[in-house]
Amino acid sequence: MSHPLRLFAPGPVEVPERIRLALGEPVYHHRSADFRSILADVRERLGRLWQAPGWEPLVLNCSGSGAMEGAVVNLMSRGEKAINVCAGKFGERWGHILRAYGCEVVELTLEWGRSVTPGEVLALLAKHPDVKAVYLTSADTSTGGEHPIEVLGPAIRAVSDALVVVDCICDFGGARDIRPIDWQIDAAVSCSQKCLLLPPGLGLATLGPRAIQRMQSADLGRFYFDWKLELVRQRDERLTAWTSAVNLIRGLQESLAMIEEEGLERVVERYARQAAAVGAAVRATGLDLFPELPTSALTAVRCGPELDGTRVVELARSKYRYQFVNGQDRLKGKIFRIGNMGVQHDADIIGAVHVLERVLADLGALRCRPGEAVAAAAARMHGVAEERSRVSRAS
Ligand SMILES: *Cc1c(COP(=O)(O)O)cnc(C)c1O
Repeated sequence: MSHPLRLFAPGPVEVPERIRLALGEPVYHHRSADFRSILADVRERLGRLWQAPGWEPLVLNCSGSGAMEGAVVNLMSRGEKAINVCAGKFGERWGHILRAYGCEVVELTLEWGRSVTPGEVLALLAKHPDVKAVYLTSADTSTGGEHPIEVLGPAIRAVSDALVVVDCICDFGGARDIRPIDWQIDAAVSCSQKCLLLPPGLGLATLGPRAIQRMQSADLGRFYFDWKLELVRQRDERLTAWTSAVNLIRGLQESLAMIEEEGLERVVERYARQAAAVGAAVRATGLDLFPELPTSALTAVRCGPELDGTRVVELARSKYRYQFVNGQDRLKGKIFRIGNMGVQHDADIIGAVHVLERVLADLGALRCRPGEAVAAAAARMHGVAEERSRVSRAS
């Protein structure tokens, strides 16, 4: 019998049993009182998780890219100009959507895996003072790289009225303590199958006051993703505009409850601890991390000329039944990625590192003694936990 495949992918993630049971409940009617109270509770919980009192969270029937499209068609008008920061596959996607709707895109293209600096964005804003929005990515899952949104938002706001719109799909609800108000952004999007522990199919957005105001006049063509209508329905009527993805929304209620019970702060710590452990193991094997500033949702590993990332992923899956993932697009075979998204136990992360060591040994690419990478991961896991508990005792 072959083992079931274990998902160490940066989405979709393994869905905890508690959520699977909620997903399996009978179908609610989307206009029933029962469903309305679920949706209202989900929106309240989302409001708390986004940590932005007064903002409006939206629950959407689509994957993450649909939420991104919504954040273009509802915030931009015909022919308007936007800056897009592109340092990976998902940054590139903002540009594709903007151009598809006829917006003028000023691309800030960086080498994939790099993190943008405020200076780079400000230089472009100075050249293009008529820019109406800046589209950013919190963590680009294709490279494992994070962008410093917490300094980009305030820097942009200080010199421009452009809206700041952020793709937080990789890390919302798990890998990053996202603070839209402190970070002075205006809108953010996410979706179900990353840190929110659900199957794919739900998009999410949250809108601040400036985005809600912009939405009133934005005139790009739209119908299904009309957030003006969606907002009225969700806020005032406790319904969604179209037939709701009722089971996924019920599942979301359960996943938000799980995150609240653990506490976002502890969830963020868990991600940091586990990503640090994988990173330490990778370095112990003689390999290196790919991005300049790694997110703690996943670890992207640079392969070097002698190692083919495609073979690493294939062997991990076929021989050890662990699902890592390949690089996308131009990074295919050049990197591979190990996700710690989901509710992984620390010990399961050590297991994933063990599989990595075995695979590298099978391919003749292990540059340490067997067990050294596992030991490095365990030591780092322990070290980060110790450090954090010392800090929390001291404060
Ligand atoms: C997964 C992901 C997306 C795309 O979401 P889909 O659900 O595949 O449409 C966009 N941006 C980032 C950062 C992602 O991780």
